[in-house]
Amino acid sequence: MLTADLICHGVPSPLLFKRYISKLNNKYGENIIDYNVRYKGKNGWGYEDKIKTKTNRKTSNISFNPYMKAFLGNYVLRESCYMCKYAEPNRIADITLGDFWGVDNMHPDFFDKRGVSIVLVNQQKGIKFLENISDKFELIESSYNQATSYETRNVNLIRPSVRPKIRDVAYNNIKNENINIFRGTAYKLNKYECIKACIKQICPQFVINFYKTLKGRIKS
Ligand code: SF4
Repeated sequence: MLTADLICHGVPSPLLFKRYISKLNNKYGENIIDYNVRYKGKNGWGYEDKIKTKTNRKTSNISFNPYMKAFLGNYVLRESCYMCKYAEPNRIADITLGDFWGVDNMHPDFFDKRGVSIVLVNQQKGIKFLENISDKFELIESSYNQATSYETRNVNLIRPSVRPKIRDVAYNNIKNENINIFRGTAYKLNKYECIKACIKQICPQFVINFYKTLKGRIKS
């Protein structure tokens, strides 16, 4: 038997997701039949979501997505996720799997817009396993320090997501049917986030990828 654990950010409120989908249903005037929050299609990893209705397919920049803002800002994670005892450096499984966020900064030549994963080998068994399957993957060696550095920020390899103060009211707001939470300031982008999102929106993806690669090379 081989055991694996995950680099986990935490799980967001399913009710918030339900309400977000219902907001999208209203916006498009028909039901969303498929929603991909990490659509990799044209522009690659971490930039767009994709909705599908009976008559429509649309991708959007996730920087404008209030549901993602709440999730990534840790506003709406389960209480247990803020105290997750698995989000720490000493991993007990044979291997640890996750997304290699920031790989473009740390290993720019290995960056791939479809995404790059981390496999941490924690035990002898994990090392053997990786050796056995190494011809089936494109692999490069990295280190724990590189994967958790300031540039890469895979913080959940080290610690649980931090509980922000807004979490005290966020769940209650979601439960309260009378409040349109997506109009609440917490879920709206601030001025800086708006400018950043607009630049991302108008900038061709290859320019963003080129910039990231260049930035990574300068730093390394
Ligand atoms: S408790 Fe830990 S492992 Fe479980 S969903 Fe939350 S962050 Fe992930």
